[in-house]
Amino acid sequence: MAATILKEDGAYHSFCGLTCIGWLYQKIKDSFFLVLGTHTCAHLLQNVLGVMVFARPRFGVALIEEADLSKPQPDLAALIDEIVADHHPSVIFLLSSCTPEVMKVEFEGLARSLSRPDLPVLFVPASGLEYTFSQAEDSVLQALLPFCPMAAPDDRRVVFLGSVNDAIADDFRVEATRLGIPVAGFLPDNHFSALPPIGPATIVAPLQPYLAKVAGRLARERGATVLSSLFPFGPDGTRAFWEDLAAALGIAVDLRERERQAWERLEPHLAILRGKRVLFTADNLMELPLARFLKNAGCTVLECSSPYINRKFHARELAALDGVRIVEQPDFDRQVHDIDLLQPDLVISNLATTNPLVGRGVVAKWSTEFSFMPIHGWSGAATLAGMFTRPLQRHRRLDPLAHDPVWLAGMMS
Ligand code: SF4
Repeated sequence: MAATILKEDGAYHSFCGLTCIGWLYQKIKDSFFLVLGTHTCAHLLQNVLGVMVFARPRFGVALIEEADLSKPQPDLAALIDEIVADHHPSVIFLLSSCTPEVMKVEFEGLARSLSRPDLPVLFVPASGLEYTFSQAEDSVLQALLPFCPMAAPDDRRVVFLGSVNDAIADDFRVEATRLGIPVAGFLPDNHFSALPPIGPATIVAPLQPYLAKVAGRLARERGATVLSSLFPFGPDGTRAFWEDLAAALGIAVDLRERERQAWERLEPHLAILRGKRVLFTADNLMELPLARFLKNAGCTVLECSSPYINRKFHARELAALDGVRIVEQPDFDRQVHDIDLLQPDLVISNLATTNPLVGRGVVAKWSTEFSFMPIHGWSGAATLAGMFTRPLQRHRRLDPLAHDPVWLAGMMS
């Protein structure tokens, strides 16, 4: 039975979609990410991604000036020449931002006009008006989809969907080999030229919970089968993921013992997590599997909120959260009221709201960080658990100081 989803239509409090550049430019090593935006976008990228200008990062912002307002299309051809000369990319992603979207820049046509026979320029809708930072990866993968070769009708192999770092990708390849699961590749892979073949016999195995739209397109446009399972977070999710994936290929595997051992290794973390009451505000679209992991780790999940929930794509996670209060697009004011009332032990919250919550004495964890950490599969379980236990331990160490007159005097001076 699936959990009931409440919908509150609260305002977005998430990081801008442009932030996905932070992990995707590193993942797709022969790419360049070009944002058509304003100084605000440039500041965001420079500050959030923390990359020095002299490091010549493979992303940049084409600044919209006032004079551009009168032009039908911004002229970016010279900039593309410069990017090609400096970086020799195989693909350029052209990302929209708030201002040109409000100006109604025709991005599809602009990207087409900038493309060259050997260098596609692909439009990626990613503005903070409509996309959270993790959803923008979905937009990038949708732009790549037409460049995935068509697989033969009998090519029954797995394509892992979602960007993970190289170490995690290697782990998944090794585990697949161990279980006898044939792998066609990853979308995205490290290079534009290495995109995996996808066809009607392909099993698409989503690694990230924020890729519902591209998964839907792979099913509709290529006839691929999208695996319905838990996402591979924590020992519980990882076991279900591999067992279901193997079953989709007609391979029977039993990973009960593997899961038991993985939980056993997490015991120092579980000792801290058991009995803790946790509340998720909404941010990265990873909330459902993270809450399911915490529930199975012995926590009580008071509320699991997410900016977007897809009943089909998230069906298994929703079923695993039966009995938990689940809210789509929550009203943050209501959540603050509930946090005051319920006094959770831990709140998982976004960049804008974490510090204010901490200022109110709440133990809060910055949810954006989950998107940047290697938390997938068997090898990522300890990192995942540690991300929840670290703020609890830090609070436990600091808490006695709140009653220490010397420390208090220092704070007041
Ligand atoms: Fe640029 Fe809009 Fe993102 Fe702000 S929210 S950085 S203006 S795209």
